[in-house]
Amino acid sequence: MKKSEDADSSGINTMSRGNRLDYFTLELIPDPFMVLKSDGTILDLNERLADFIKTPKSELIDRRVSEVEALNIICGQSLNSIKNTAVIFAVLPYQGMHIEVSILPFKTEDGTCLLRIMLKDLSDYINLEKTVLRRDRELTIINTLSSAFISSDNMDLAIQDLLSNVLLVTDFDTGWLMTVSGRSFALKAHKNLSTEFAEALGNGQLETLCRTIVRSKEPLHVPDTSEIARNDYLRKEGIAFLTAVRLISHQKILGVLFLARRDEKGYAFNFDFASLFPLIGNHVSMILEKIRLFQETKRLSITDGLTGLFNSRYFYRQLDAEIARSNRYGYSFSLILFDIDNFKIINDTYGHQAGDDVLLELARILQEASRVTDIVVRYGGEEFIIVLPNTSESDTLSLAERIRSSVEQSVFLPNLAPGITITLSGGIASFPLHASGVKTLLNAADVALYAAKTAGKNTVVCFQGRINE
Ligand code: GH3
Ligand code: MG
Ligand code: MG
Repeated sequence: MKKSEDADSSGINTMSRGNRLDYFTLELIPDPFMVLKSDGTILDLNERLADFIKTPKSELIDRRVSEVEALNIICGQSLNSIKNTAVIFAVLPYQGMHIEVSILPFKTEDGTCLLRIMLKDLSDYINLEKTVLRRDRELTIINTLSSAFISSDNMDLAIQDLLSNVLLVTDFDTGWLMTVSGRSFALKAHKNLSTEFAEALGNGQLETLCRTIVRSKEPLHVPDTSEIARNDYLRKEGIAFLTAVRLISHQKILGVLFLARRDEKGYAFNFDFASLFPLIGNHVSMILEKIRLFQETKRLSITDGLTGLFNSRYFYRQLDAEIARSNRYGYSFSLILFDIDNFKIINDTYGHQAGDDVLLELARILQEASRVTDIVVRYGGEEFIIVLPNTSESDTLSLAERIRSSVEQSVFLPNLAPGITITLSGGIASFPLHASGVKTLLNAADVALYAAKTAGKNTVVCFQGRINE
């Protein structure tokens, strides 16, 4: 399109002032655009540029870029550093936007050097890129953290795993996790901490900080070293930056997650990234809650609801395991089957609730009398079993006798003055002396219990003989 050298009404401008130029369709360029002399004087520009810097075109023509504040901010520096033939692209912040400045030098027919400058607002692209990066990071966090729950058979290991994964997806190399334990906080997992600091945490030395974080809804970032220096423990540990987020599920505080960095030059806290902390906190809370529920369900599935003792399901599982272990190592073990004497009368006289209270108190006595390695089970209604690993028949008999005598002397339901007394009958069977299978061993104990009942109750009897498989 060949046009005259003057501006015409079609919006197509020429840039002829002082130089012979090709016609140039400035207004068809969708972005702010201008042409400069090599000394920075504005030869021409499109309306978009005038709009962009909110200055009429007429006030810009023939001015130097350095004299126009907005233009000087956007491209002054790039212009200063330009060499004749170089092409410059720079992305610069301007009024909250990200402006890409392209400077393209060119020569006119008569050899004059001019500069074409195009400004492009990249804010949308950059924000989009940021959003995509953020989404990507969020997904990484979710995926990485979720995998921690896989090893939840061991709660402590699962939490340690979870902490390692948190560090993996964050900028931090050090961290610890405190969980609520009664009225205080317990150190559940830690990574890269000195033994002294871990001990201090375990002894509740950072309890006040934990409470502050629990009260704060937002994650707490402590980037100020002087603030950290005020805490002896953090200072000695060499912590330079600390961030913490409370862990909460169903309005219940579960604990606090701490992430830290030691002294490092040049570390700039990334606030964009910090905005992901609530997400991390939520996920860690969710996983902790899942682990807790999983453990609770597991506990309930092996526990008797009334007494809190193990139930028969757990008993059978453990009996299998005990037989396997004793077979492997050549150990013996024993079990006592207790049955309350004339319990029906207690129910009939005082009611079922009173009967339940007696069962509860008896469970406490049995638990107290046994060793930590013993397995105390509510086997049926008013029948209890104690499994004694690595214990001979005679040692078992002594324990059973001690329990029988202690129960006989105990006063149950003291509220119902003068209280109730009960007695127990017990049958003892030992592995591998009397039997070597689950069924036969239980059968032997049952036979011994029956013998105790027929001998007049309130007595303990050992099985005699052997039941073969
Ligand atoms: P024995 O000396 O022959 O054992 O007489 P017993 O009355 O204890 O007879 P048995 O062991 O056959 O009776 C069990 C009774 O225990 C029957 C039932 O009412 C009572 N019982 C079983 N489970 C529960 C329970 O969970 N709560 C209460 N309160 N009573 C129970
Ligand atoms: Mg019974
Ligand atoms: Mg009974």
